[in-house]
Order: sequence, then structure tokens, then C-alpha cells
Amino acid sequence: MPKGQISVEAENIFPIIKQFLYSDQEIFLRELVSNAVDATSKIKTLSSRGDFKGELGDLTIDVEVDKEAKTITIKDRGIGMTEEEVMKYLNQVAFSSAEDFLKKYKDESSIIGHFGLGFYSAFMVAEKVDVITKSYKKTKPATLWTCDGNPEYDIEKADKKDRGTHIILHVSEDSVEYLEDGRIETLLKKYCKFLPVPIRFGKKTETVTEGEGEDVKTVETEVDNIINNPTPAWKKSPRSLKDEDYKKFYNELYPYSAPPLFWIHLNIDFPFNLTGILYFPQLGNNIEVQKNKIHLYSNQVFVTDDVKEIVPEFLTLLHGVIDSPDIPLNVSRSYLQSDQNVKKISGYITKKVAEKLANLFKKDREDFESKWKDFGVFIKYGMLSDEKFNTKGLKFALLKNTEGSFFTIDEYKEKIAATQTDKHEKAIFLYSNNPKEHDSFVQAAKKRGYDILEMDNVIDSHFMQHLEAKADGVTFVRVDSDTVDNLVQKDEKTESLLTEKEEGKVKALFEGKVTQPGASIVLKPMSSDDQPVLITRPEFMRRMKEMQAMQGMSMDQFPDSYNVVVNTNHPLVADKLLKMRNEEKKADFVQHLYSLALLNQGMLSGPELTKFINRSIEFLK
Ligand code: ADP
Repeated sequence: MPKGQISVEAENIFPIIKQFLYSDQEIFLRELVSNAVDATSKIKTLSSRGDFKGELGDLTIDVEVDKEAKTITIKDRGIGMTEEEVMKYLNQVAFSSAEDFLKKYKDESSIIGHFGLGFYSAFMVAEKVDVITKSYKKTKPATLWTCDGNPEYDIEKADKKDRGTHIILHVSEDSVEYLEDGRIETLLKKYCKFLPVPIRFGKKTETVTEGEGEDVKTVETEVDNIINNPTPAWKKSPRSLKDEDYKKFYNELYPYSAPPLFWIHLNIDFPFNLTGILYFPQLGNNIEVQKNKIHLYSNQVFVTDDVKEIVPEFLTLLHGVIDSPDIPLNVSRSYLQSDQNVKKISGYITKKVAEKLANLFKKDREDFESKWKDFGVFIKYGMLSDEKFNTKGLKFALLKNTEGSFFTIDEYKEKIAATQTDKHEKAIFLYSNNPKEHDSFVQAAKKRGYDILEMDNVIDSHFMQHLEAKADGVTFVRVDSDTVDNLVQKDEKTESLLTEKEEGKVKALFEGKVTQPGASIVLKPMSSDDQPVLITRPEFMRRMKEMQAMQGMSMDQFPDSYNVVVNTNHPLVADKLLKMRNEEKKADFVQHLYSLALLNQGMLSGPELTKFINRSIEFLK
């Protein structure tokens, strides 16, 4: 029996394969089935070019597990190999014949040639590998190649009549887990679900209903267990697909998910090759759960569902498939990020998504608005993280006011221009992050003819800051950040009804009650319709504190800061309070006014709240 040595470079290849090359042992199956698919694609190409004149026949690839013999066998009816080819392709490890083939038949076939040392990954689970192969070239005899994992191999004539290749793995002791049918089926479904050639894993029983009416019965029949869908939707032409087809495919990818909101069919062949379908899911409340579900394929071979380095972070909320032979595989993550192709791909996807959104917005504004609940966070996140996306997003990002109407940023600027432009010509966008809690502030502002935006998402504080920097002359001011007359600063002044001396008295009374740190008392003549006492939280200080909280710094580094504004023109202050003689009653009265203001800001709780309620009951008596 002739023996040979695998070429010199291979001397130490096995320990390397075992330990370093593939940290992911299970991918051996992907590699071997991919090779089988590859060989099958090649025979198809040869046939279509007329270089192979025989019958193609059934090209289904079989994967078989024999638990007793401890073997896994992969059988294809592809081009096979002659003895010389076995020597060349399987022994000169570093040599990739796919490159050879591609040079010759460029542009015509889809060859999975990116996996490098694919075949040798077999030795991660096998102590011995037999390859029985017969070339499509009729005159060439079949060959058996056997290798037990060191650089020596045996090669001899084999008895195989049929074209194609059988790879037989003699599974090693420490890999017997792969002799379980369940394990292999799971792996095939994971990596081979959309390979372009049918892959059969034994038989399965299917229940079918037979007969009609009363005679209906279910029967169990044995059918081929075909693992894959060889023509997945993303490989088809968008024109041949209906909405239903896209939804069906989504369901195939994520069986229990709610239907997607929209999708983008990607198809590009220059300057890189990429196909795929990206779906926008119904996000629901738990965004984290929806993240990172895009599957990456290379010529229909599943590679990974971790595409963090390939698409920008905000796009990891999308679902679906990206298929590109131009994304380098089996390389380190940090390398991926700096790869030029990956950068281009990422930019292309971002652009496509922005275009799609702009399109949806233009085509059906009402529908777009109804989906804003799902789109909003995503678009804001995208605008914050990607400059180009931001430029496009400024045209379709929406703001929602407390009445439930939607506006683009430009539309909103126009809407409020007459009423909410301040003395510095800045457009003041008034907002509340919680209109329910801010109700009295919202009402007061509305009474003045102001419009209030609802900015209640976690991302909104960042988004507002972003717009202040990116959208010309916009300032966001929360409704409770100042007294209503001051929200939009204009040069109006209301005269106080009190003398300086009286103001001093009022101030002293409140100073006795307002003792919390961070609170300052401000006396202010406002309209008699405005509240007598009001607590405001200055915009700047509040933002600083929010930012600090978001960065996880401890709260007390930056004290809460608020103003207790006493409306010196309110009859309860200007009239009633100043006329009171009983000191105790006066103190109670001040306390009560202050408690009302605290209540209004949601700041009254604990014993103070109980006292307030009891005092109110006393008053009612
Ligand atoms: P790659 O697939 O990247 O070229 P592999 O190590 O997986 O590298 O395979 C080396 C070569 O062996 C292939 O390019 C191909 O020519 C040949 N080969 C492997 N498996 C088969 C097969 N099932 N049928 C025919 N040729 C095969």
C-alpha cells in the first residue's frame, strides 16, 4: 500500500488545528458539508457549460451517523477527485483548490472558498478520516485516502462506481457526543439550513391526514429528512417576492416572533458582494431581547449570529440575514472592525436603512407615525451614533406633543415660531418627560398658548442635547424648569403689589419652613391666576444631575437644586398672609402653601404628606 507524507508545511498542523484554529469544534460539520456543496456546485457549473456531459442525477447530500461503528459519513455526488487531485488538494494543506477553480470559472459559480483549512477541521473530532472519491472524469478510477491524524497517509485504489465523494470520520473517544443523531441534526440546522444543495439526514416520520369527512384519519409516513431550504428568500429577486413571502421567511428565521414592521432586501455586487434581508421587528418593551439577532452567512453557509463588529451598534436591533463572501471569516473580532470591506458593508447597510425609512415616511406619513413607537428609539439611537444617518434622520425624525400630534423638527419650529421664540431669537421647545406628573405645569403653559412635547423615553435626554447641537437654534426647556412667564424668556415685567418691607416679611416666613438643602426662595410678582407657591427645577442643574446619575455616579455628589418661587401678587400671599396676626396660624399657612407646591412636584411623601393631609382635614372642619 503506497504511503506518503503530507507536505512539509503540514508537519505540525494537527495540534494547531485542534487547539488554536477552531475554538469552535462543532464547525467541522459545516466545513465538510460546505465542501460537499462546493463539489456539487462545481459539477453543476461544468454541466451547464457543457464540460460535463453525463447525467447530473440526484445531487442530494447525505449525512449519516453510525453509532456502533462510531462514524459520521458525508456523501456527495459532486465532481469527486482523481488520485492526483487527492494528493494535491488534501495533502498540500495550505493550497486551496477553490482558488484554482475560481480562476477558471469566475463569476459563474458560488464556491465557498473562504474557510481556509476546512477539510482538516475533521481531525478536531476524528482519530481517522477515510476519503473515498471518484472523479466525474469517467476514465479515472476511484481512490481511498486514509489518514489517522499524523502527517502520514495511505492512498490506494478503491471500489466506487459512482461519481462523488464519501468522507468517513472515525470519531475519537473524546468526541462521542457527535454520534448522537440529535446533536448532528441540531448542527445541520444551525449551519446548513440554507445551503444551496438539498441535505438529507436520514428519514423522519410525518403525520398526514387522509380521506374526507367522517373517514378522515391521520397516518404516519416515513419521508426524507431534508434539513435545508436551498432557495432562501434573500437569494431570490425582490420582484418575485410578495409581502407574504417576506413574512414567511421571517417566520422561518424566528418561529415565534410577531410579524416584522418592514424589511429591506439588500443586493449589491460592487464594490463588494452582499445579499440579504433585514427586518425591522416589533420592538416591544424589552429592547435588549431583540438585539443581536442578525445571522451572517457566507454563500448560504451560516457563519455566526454575532454581527456586532459588522453592523453599527444601533443596527443590531434589526433582524434577518446578511450573506457576504467578502466578510473575512475565522479571523479575530478586532481585526474585523478595522477591515476595509467590513467598514464599507457597514456604511452601505446604514445608508440603505436610512433610505428605506425616508421612503416609508414620504410614502405613508400616517403609517409612519403609527409605527413611531417602534421606530423612535431606533432612529434616535441611530442619529446619535452615526453622522450620516443623523443627516438623513433630521428630515424624518418625529416629535410628539401632548395632544398626540407628530411633527418633524422643521415643522415644529414653524409651528411654535410665533409664540415660543425668546428674546435671543431661539426656538424654545417646551417638553415634559412625564405629562401626568407635570400636569399643572403643562396646563399653565398651554393656557399661555404654548405647545408641549412629550419626551418620555430614556434616550430622549441624550436626543434633546443632540438636537440642540445639530438642529440650528433649538433649545429644550422642561415645563417645570421655571415659572411659566419665564419658560420662554421675553422682556416683559410684572410689577409687584408688595412693598420691599412686605417682601422681606414674606421671605422670612418662608425661610422658616424651607430648610431642605438645594432649595432657594425666590420672590416673584406673577399673575394672580398663577399658583401662589411653585417649585421649579432649573434646566441646567437638573440635566447635570441626570447626566451624573446616568454615568452611575453617586447622587449626593451633586445636590438637588430647585427654586421655591413665591408669587407675591397672588391674593393668598399679598392679601391673606400679610393680614394674618396669629404667628402660629401664619406659620401653618406658609407650611401649607409650601406643601402644596411640593405635592405639585411629586416631592411630598412620608410624615410630611401625612401632616399635610391631617392639616387639610382640619381646614375643612
Ligand atoms: P477549501 O475548501 O477552502 O479549498 P478544504 O481544506 O476544505 O479547503 O478543501 C481542500 C480541497 O479539497 C478543496 O478545495 C477541494 O478541491 C477538495 N475537496 C474537499 N472536499 C471535497 C469533496 N467533498 N469533493 C471534491 N473535492 C473536495
